[in-house]
Amino acid sequence: MDEERSPLRQLNEKPVCKEPAEKSALSRLPVPTVKRPLPGKEQSAGQSNLRQPANKRLLDQSDDKAPPNKRKMVSASVVGFKPRPPVMSQRPAVNPVHKTSAATVAGGPSRAAMKKPVAATLKPVAPSGGTTSRRPGWDLKGKMGDMQMKVSSYQEQVRNTKTQNRELKEEAERAQRELENLREEHSALLNKMRAYEMENQELSSLKRTLEMDLSRERALSAQRLQEVRELTQSNAEQTDKLHQGEMERRALHNTLLELKGNIRVFCRVRPLLDGVQQQSSFEIQPQDKTIVLVKTEESHIGKEKELHKYPFKFDHVFPPQCSQQQVFSEISLLVQSALDGYNVCSFAYGQTGSGKTYTMEGPDVLAGEEMGMIPRAVQQIFQAACRLREQGWEYQFTASFLEIYNETIRDLLVSNKTPKKMDYEIKRASPTADIRVTNLKYIPVSSEEEVLGLIKLAKQNRSTARTQINDVSSRSHSVFQLRIEGKNSARDVSCNSILSLVDLAGSERVQKSQSTGDRLKEMKSINASLTNLGLVFSALASKDGFVPYRNSKLTYLLQDCLGGNSKTLMFVNISPEIESFNESLNSLRFASKVNECVIGTATANRK
Ligand code: ADP
Ligand code: MG
Repeated sequence: MDEERSPLRQLNEKPVCKEPAEKSALSRLPVPTVKRPLPGKEQSAGQSNLRQPANKRLLDQSDDKAPPNKRKMVSASVVGFKPRPPVMSQRPAVNPVHKTSAATVAGGPSRAAMKKPVAATLKPVAPSGGTTSRRPGWDLKGKMGDMQMKVSSYQEQVRNTKTQNRELKEEAERAQRELENLREEHSALLNKMRAYEMENQELSSLKRTLEMDLSRERALSAQRLQEVRELTQSNAEQTDKLHQGEMERRALHNTLLELKGNIRVFCRVRPLLDGVQQQSSFEIQPQDKTIVLVKTEESHIGKEKELHKYPFKFDHVFPPQCSQQQVFSEISLLVQSALDGYNVCSFAYGQTGSGKTYTMEGPDVLAGEEMGMIPRAVQQIFQAACRLREQGWEYQFTASFLEIYNETIRDLLVSNKTPKKMDYEIKRASPTADIRVTNLKYIPVSSEEEVLGLIKLAKQNRSTARTQINDVSSRSHSVFQLRIEGKNSARDVSCNSILSLVDLAGSERVQKSQSTGDRLKEMKSINASLTNLGLVFSALASKDGFVPYRNSKLTYLLQDCLGGNSKTLMFVNISPEIESFNESLNSLRFASKVNECVIGTATANRK
């Protein structure tokens, strides 16, 4: 009954272990070279012959060194049967293809062998009818069994093939998906790569541009550096030239003023007041240099009236209609000299009401057309100092404003309404120091506005005094001084000077018989100081060794500003009314004496 066992059972059993099954199963395997034994000899001779394939297979399985084609054949013969578990377990379950192949082509050595498993299995079991012929004709049951076995085998093979097919399909699908994924991945990577390449190209072109820019910049900066060097050099040369030019200008300016005379006298005639038509006492000759006082006097021989003319010549005569600006334009050269390092002193001389204060300070409002010489001079000095700063000049200014009444000094910059009695003494702190007044306010100023504020304060102080003591202002000298210190550190040059603007006391002569007490004292004091001023001028002009500076507070205070080292300007103010004729005549006589004085050559206080 062993031989008649179901082929299914045979297949399910491990063929190597059971010999009889092996025998019958292997007997149906396609081994065309093996000859079948005859039925009669089957039992005896078949014993050894039938064992051969089984042995061979065992050998094949055990002998790894067997030639590959031999192994291939054996493997092919087992395809479709039970897969070999050791091969499956030996292989890592990474690639599903291999796994399936292992199941179908157990021990299959290569892919080539795995590719055709179906053909390999179907080939040997083709219904050749060989088996039927081997059974005796009567063994129908056996034949039937063989047929059934064949059918089952085919069915099994078909199932296996289907499974295999399905698995292969799945595998193919997976592989397809994987391939698609890989393709996608590949195309994504390709895109990325292209993007990187483009980026790379852009970066390299940017790098090239930057390199070009850099080299251009370098060339440009080198060029600019050279230009800056050249400019700095030419700038230094220009500054040198400018400085030289400035020094030359100062020298020329000084020469010009020397030619004009270091003491100059200007005559200014006030207009008639209140528009009242009065008879004028003067006429002004052409060229604005000569003024002629005219008076009709009774002739001493009879009742005939004689016309008397008194001509005076000055550096300039300003007729009544002249504006403050026109007057200032004539003195602005002197103001410039103060900045250049020359002491400048300007006086206003004349009887009370002739326009001295108007000329020096202007009316109460210190702005506009009617601004006097002091605010205009201050304005010019600050503007010029600002321009000279560009040439390296730095200026410091100090202002003081005082009044001399009856040979007593009063500080006009003390804001206190009831000032303490202070002891003001004119002194030179050291032989080289300038003359100063002890306890007097010397206020540092840095702008025009500050100085104008001080002038206003001084005006208020003077007008307060006017109400207390019957118009002291007309009988006192007021002295505004601006000390100018200039320094050009780069050139190591400095200059110091004082600009003094003096509004003198009224020069009118009061009849001695009419004067008593304080009034007489006042008159004597004024006369003395004005006379002394005249004497100082003539002493300077005649180059006397002795100059009577100390004879009055005014000349003592101004001694540094009068003399060889200074430029002096005298305004003689004239009232036009006929009643003022005598006073005008006196003033003009005094002024022309001053005008005759030629003071020695001025030198700038430069170090
Ligand atoms: P002083 O100071 O010599 O006593 P003021 O300067 O006080 O004289 O002048 C007397 C008056 O004459 C003032 O009212 C002044 O405004 C006026 N005055 C003087 N000079 C002129 C002038 N050039 N133009 C217009 N008014 C003037
Ligand atoms: Mg006055």
